Amino acid sequence: MTIIAIDGPAASGKGTLARRLAKHFNYAYLDTGALYRAVGLEVKRAGGNAENEQDALNAARKLATLNMNDPEIKSESTGGLASKVAAIPAVRDLLLDFQHRFAEKPPGGKIGALLDGRDIGTVVCPGADIKLFITASVETRAKRRFLEQFGPKGSDGEYQSILNDMRQRDERDINRAASPLKAAENAHLLDTTNSDIEAVFEQALQLISDRLTTA
Ligand code: C5P
Repeated sequence: MTIIAIDGPAASGKGTLARRLAKHFNYAYLDTGALYRAVGLEVKRAGGNAENEQDALNAARKLATLNMNDPEIKSESTGGLASKVAAIPAVRDLLLDFQHRFAEKPPGGKIGALLDGRDIGTVVCPGADIKLFITASVETRAKRRFLEQFGPKGSDGEYQSILNDMRQRDERDINRAASPLKAAENAHLLDTTNSDIEAVFEQALQLISDRLTTA
């Protein structure tokens, strides 16, 4: 069983990279951000407050029934709600169970699992075979999210609003007490500010292949 942990801030490119690597190695893939997003969105729909522990726990307990493919799940505003529920330790504990089960027994009888998020290498799978930490400047990341959401016709105001939301989310994720966003000591750092996904994929592939052949 091989476990690959990929962490990094919002829109760093980790999701695209993780999906490609999982496909390449035929490993099971878990986007752990989607779990927090689904919980954040459920709190909003239930009319609750994402910073309120009881509201967030009520939503987290419904995790198994929540729709991870909801069209609203990917928006930056859902990302903001996710980072609020993610700062509550009791919510993290509930979601940790789910993530551990996935890593220990990947669905579909796969021989490996790849998880991406903020605390995979530090907390969820500290013993992972390989850890990658993907990063990029906040302006580059905001630009990516802006193009994804508004396309080339988006306005400067829309870009600025995404940039502000992303700065606030980074701040919350980095400074929270429970499992903050942080590279594990033995993680390989990959900066995607000036490289395209193809180059980063090749780099990651090399690192993983080297690790697997020496294991
Ligand atoms: O990766 P993504 O942007 O989808 O994550 C949404 C939010 O969920 C993050 O900003 C973070 O607050 C939270 N998260 C987390 N731990 C993870 C994955 C996501 O706290 N492992």
